[in-house]
Amino acid sequence: MTFDVNQIRADFPVLQREVRPGVPVVYLDSTATAQKPLAVLQAMEEYYRRSNANIHRGVHTLAEEATALYEQAREKIARFINAPSSRQVIYTRNTTEAINLVAYSWARTHLSAGDLVILTEMEHHSNLVPWHMLAMERGIRLEFIPVTESGLLDLETYRQLLEQAPKLVAFTHMSNVLGTINPAEEIIRLAHQAGAVTLLDGAQSVPHFAVDVQALDVDFLAFSAHKMCGPTGIGVLYGKADLLEAMPPFLGGGDMIREVKLRAFKPNTLPHKFEAGTPAIAEAVGLGAACDYLTDVGMDAIAAHEHEITAYALERLEEIPGVKLFGPSAEHKGGVAAFTLEGVHPHDVAQILDQDGIAVRAGHHCAQPLHEKFHIPATSRASFYLYSTKEEVDKLVQGIYKVKKYFG
Ligand code: PLP
Repeated sequence: MTFDVNQIRADFPVLQREVRPGVPVVYLDSTATAQKPLAVLQAMEEYYRRSNANIHRGVHTLAEEATALYEQAREKIARFINAPSSRQVIYTRNTTEAINLVAYSWARTHLSAGDLVILTEMEHHSNLVPWHMLAMERGIRLEFIPVTESGLLDLETYRQLLEQAPKLVAFTHMSNVLGTINPAEEIIRLAHQAGAVTLLDGAQSVPHFAVDVQALDVDFLAFSAHKMCGPTGIGVLYGKADLLEAMPPFLGGGDMIREVKLRAFKPNTLPHKFEAGTPAIAEAVGLGAACDYLTDVGMDAIAAHEHEITAYALERLEEIPGVKLFGPSAEHKGGVAAFTLEGVHPHDVAQILDQDGIAVRAGHHCAQPLHEKFHIPATSRASFYLYSTKEEVDKLVQGIYKVKKYFG
């Protein structure tokens, strides 16, 4: 399939709408959540129209169909990230819950006072707070790979930190603010040499370029469906089989058990051991459809398109007097442009852009420590995906000139 952005845009109903009469939406907030193609909406609707039933427990036709659809989606996800087996794909609510699952189940089994966990200064709160909680509860130590002025990880300091024999290295594959794509393979290889387990936050990588868990040799990978054209309410934790097998359950309840007595239970096998209660079935079906959609378009083509749009956006934004961009140059970066505009609060920028239908986000983007590092409380952030166009970037640039005029 050749990459045709107009053809792709036609797949996304939201992109056809106007936010006000005559004002089409210019959606530049895909880092927060991506829009959904018809294929995903239809797969979910079809599930509810034809096959809705609870899974795993029924013998009737609808229950069997629902179970098959739910498990087929798991197979699609496994293929999408090249997992050796779909047993290693655990459904969660989102990236945040996937990271918390590792923090509760793996880390509370393996870490005790004084053990070191290495994070980075560019983490989203979802890969900070679970470790803060463990530090408070268990007295584990946290160290951070610093972020350089140009928005890259300082790998020299990382090598030095590794000499302290960390138990876990947990880091984001791509920053949701700087857009930095971190050298995951190298970070994981070095962590393994130092004897540490690795957790990759793939919330911003899995949607945007091909992520192969076996090539990366990563121990755990977390990501969210809603950022990759799928629905909200479902995410994934991938883990290496031996680690997952040895981990205790996270939540207790139906489905995660093989047997229950009044005073005891035996946990289920993988992946069900970690999926207590009725799961997000339609959402799993939607995520499976999103994997199919992205695969059909081609992850390499998506990455190439986003690279072109991002490079163009950085070039155009840089030309605007008063705009300061954060993060590295386009070669190290995914589709994110976080910026400040001199003399104008980022929220005001976002609000005025909205008058022209331009959707950008303003704030600390759940990465407060990173903003503190750069001595700013907030940024405005435009972000791009497979359906973004250069015309939209042009509208953003015009919009920023309008903001400047407004604020004199
Ligand atoms: N990690 C990164 C890098 C993110 O950008 C996000 C969301 O923006 C998350 C984690 C959390 O994702 P979710 O809210 O879907 O759990």
